[in-house]
Amino acid sequence: MDATNGRTVLITGASRGIGEAAARAFAAQGAHVVLAARDGAAVQRIAAEIGGQAAGIACDVTDFAQVEAAIDLAVGRFGKLDILIGNAGVIEPIARLDAADPADWGRAIDINLKGVFHGMRAALPVMQAQGQGTIITISSGAAHNPLEGWSSYCASKAGAAMLTACAHLEGQSAGLRIMGLSPGTVATDMQRVIKASGVGPIARLEWEDHIPADWPARALLWMCSADADDWLGKEISLRDEAIRRRVGLI
Ligand code: NAP
Repeated sequence: MDATNGRTVLITGASRGIGEAAARAFAAQGAHVVLAARDGAAVQRIAAEIGGQAAGIACDVTDFAQVEAAIDLAVGRFGKLDILIGNAGVIEPIARLDAADPADWGRAIDINLKGVFHGMRAALPVMQAQGQGTIITISSGAAHNPLEGWSSYCASKAGAAMLTACAHLEGQSAGLRIMGLSPGTVATDMQRVIKASGVGPIARLEWEDHIPADWPARALLWMCSADADDWLGKEISLRDEAIRRRVGLI
């Protein structure tokens, strides 16, 4: 069995953007795919387009029970969970600290940080019992660089990056592969929201500056192979030309 054929992958935030592209890319390589997002109609439509090897489930990653239900669906339908991609994320609120709405700010932490924890918390016992599994967190350059108006995004992504490193530390002896992917800027709805905000250097980029969602999708496929094992516990940056070459993107 190769890195993806016959494997079962659960992708959070699969109703559009990078998550949708990843679901289609994994399915094209013969994987069983469970697509999870709040928009249940969208993930079910995409799963139906992919075919019988895919299933969609409405899932808000801020609610642990809903994340557990998504993992139960993967194991119940396809017999196991080989790969979890913690991709669900939001950029908003884009607001300075002195004006940010506290509830909105906390909600971004609930999605981008606690949502990643919920996925790991539900998947780890399953993967440990199997003796194998891969968990990939979608990170961001914002995890390591402060950006004006992006405090909730930067703080939540920094937390998720640390969580991923902790999960690697705890999971490696059980044979688990855990790491992060920082995709660079990608042509998705998130970049439309950033552009509309007009805040900061990323909002000044043009649409053509962003890579297509297919690129991180293909990087994720590669990260599920042993070729990426040097990066376990670390983060892969798709801005890195050597990585792009290794993944076969350039
Ligand atoms: P996107 O097109 O806005 O998609 C975000 C996805 O997350 C959607 O499927 C959305 O689905 C889902 N989501 C949001 N809140 C959720 C929740 N509470 N529960 C479950 N799913 C939720 O953005 P994207 O660019 O594909 O982003 C995917 C990931 O890449 C994010 O983690 C983002 O931070 C990261 N990233 C993106 C870029 C970029 O330039 N685009 C750069 C670096 C990192 P629903 O609304 O249906 O729930």
